[in-house]
Amino acid sequence: MRATIAFPQPRPGILDITPYAGGESSVPGVTRVIKLASNEGALGASPKARQAIVDAAAQAHRYPDGAWTDLREALGRRHGLDPARLVCGAGSDELISFLVRAYAGPGDSIVQSAHGFLMYSIYAKGAGVETHFAPETNLTADVDALLAAVTDTTRLLFLANPNNPTGTILDADSVRRLREGLREDIILVLDSAYAEFVERNDYDPGNALVDSHPNTVMMRTFSKIHGLGGLRVGWLYGPAPIVDVLNRVRGPFNVSSVGLVAATAAIEDVAFQTLAREHNSYWRAWTRERLEAMGLAVTDSSCNFLLTHFSAEGPLTVAAADAYLRGRGLICRRMGGYGLPHALRITIGQADEMHSLVQTLGDFVEGGGRA
Ligand SMILES: *Cc1c(COP(=O)(O)O)cnc(C)c1O
Repeated sequence: MRATIAFPQPRPGILDITPYAGGESSVPGVTRVIKLASNEGALGASPKARQAIVDAAAQAHRYPDGAWTDLREALGRRHGLDPARLVCGAGSDELISFLVRAYAGPGDSIVQSAHGFLMYSIYAKGAGVETHFAPETNLTADVDALLAAVTDTTRLLFLANPNNPTGTILDADSVRRLREGLREDIILVLDSAYAEFVERNDYDPGNALVDSHPNTVMMRTFSKIHGLGGLRVGWLYGPAPIVDVLNRVRGPFNVSSVGLVAATAAIEDVAFQTLAREHNSYWRAWTRERLEAMGLAVTDSSCNFLLTHFSAEGPLTVAAADAYLRGRGLICRRMGGYGLPHALRITIGQADEMHSLVQTLGDFVEGGGRA
């Protein structure tokens, strides 16, 4: 006879996971909200991608192309990459889960930086894998600290570059030094979700490093500059043996037909990407200048958001600022879950949205934090 258990039990560690909290989209009692909480892309999806979504409706009953052929070819053309070495996912989130599941298990560990993207450690926990967090320097990933955090059990090192939620970036030489200091059996995962927003010529999203190393992969997403977060499409470029492994653990139709056609149209719409990058660059600088003029510290950002710092004490706390903004329909994101209890992450939105944000936050600071 089996012992009687009151109810089914998950695997060890699952109940230790703090579920990822996405940005909220509504405030009770407020009709018009401005959502600057999820880095979604100020201009929405390109008109060509929107048309592709409409056109795809007639074929909604058909299973998607499980090999993602058109999308891989379009990505290959746009980025000069071999389509055979691309894997698509339901968002790059799904690719993180494939990597963790395929290469690590109980007793293994991953390394990420202290204020790095949280999904790495969440998927790791779900697979019984431990995460070692490396301290940062000035809210920036520190190559030496990352290397020092590696142990015998390390299987993967995840680096978001530039990083969410800090917005900070490592140059190509630093990332190369990281790779060269890592054991060869450790996969370096370069998460370049914000690559399109970077405006520095010493940056490599990962293409070059993947080409020169058999143990490095790059992940990208359609959720940020392409404005397709709702459709869940991401992709990975890697060495053939790793691509082969990921294709074995994935579901046969993991990206929807609508997601595939929209992403293909988006990647080909280079003019829209340029527009979105220029919009971001202008409004990021504009907003930062005004936040700093209010006396707020803002971390230098290569992304489509600004990490903004409030006082730990006194009336101008992040809690007071967030409550003040929400009361007026402006939703940004607090970063306590990332170990940044005094910071607010503000996504760059449309022009009128940034005007509202700056006006409202200015009123808050000027009024000495009074509600
Ligand atoms: C937004 C984001 C992702 C992408 O997530 P999707 O699953 O593709 O929507 C990945 N990494 C980082 C660092 C991000 O900020």
